[in-house]
Amino acid sequence: MQLFVESRCSCYNQYPVVLQYNILGSGIVCSNCNLLRYVKFPVALMKKISDWNVLYAKVYKKWLDEDKGYKEIFDVYSIVNRLGLEIVNEMGVFKKTYYWWHVDTMEKKERCPVCNKKLISLKNDYSTSHKVCKECLVLVNDVE
Ligand SMILES: [Zn+2]
Ligand SMILES: [Zn+2]
Repeated sequence: MQLFVESRCSCYNQYPVVLQYNILGSGIVCSNCNLLRYVKFPVALMKKISDWNVLYAKVYKKWLDEDKGYKEIFDVYSIVNRLGLEIVNEMGVFKKTYYWWHVDTMEKKERCPVCNKKLISLKNDYSTSHKVCKECLVLVNDVE
């Protein structure tokens, strides 16, 4: 029995990818359509991405449960975010990659959570858009 149906990106290859926790464990989505994207990275890096995804799952669960440690998800210095930012830099050698920054639903972010510089709009083909910090490689969903 298949519990999750994988929806894969069919966009053109030019779009950057995003390191984003997902339950399927791949951790890589398309910055344009937000569907799973398959990019070939070295095995060691794929392993790192997969380990990060497992770690993020724990942090994400804490946030959902409002466990006392749940603020890790917003913390620039938490292990999960530091590791995530390190991984996007490594992925960037092969393919432009951003790090999905988790924001609370109604929170509008104007500034990069890492360096506090103004975020730049990254348009996609859909009605939604993202904002990014080109230096820190952070991407946030732009709440309208
Ligand atoms: Zn896509
Ligand atoms: Zn930044």
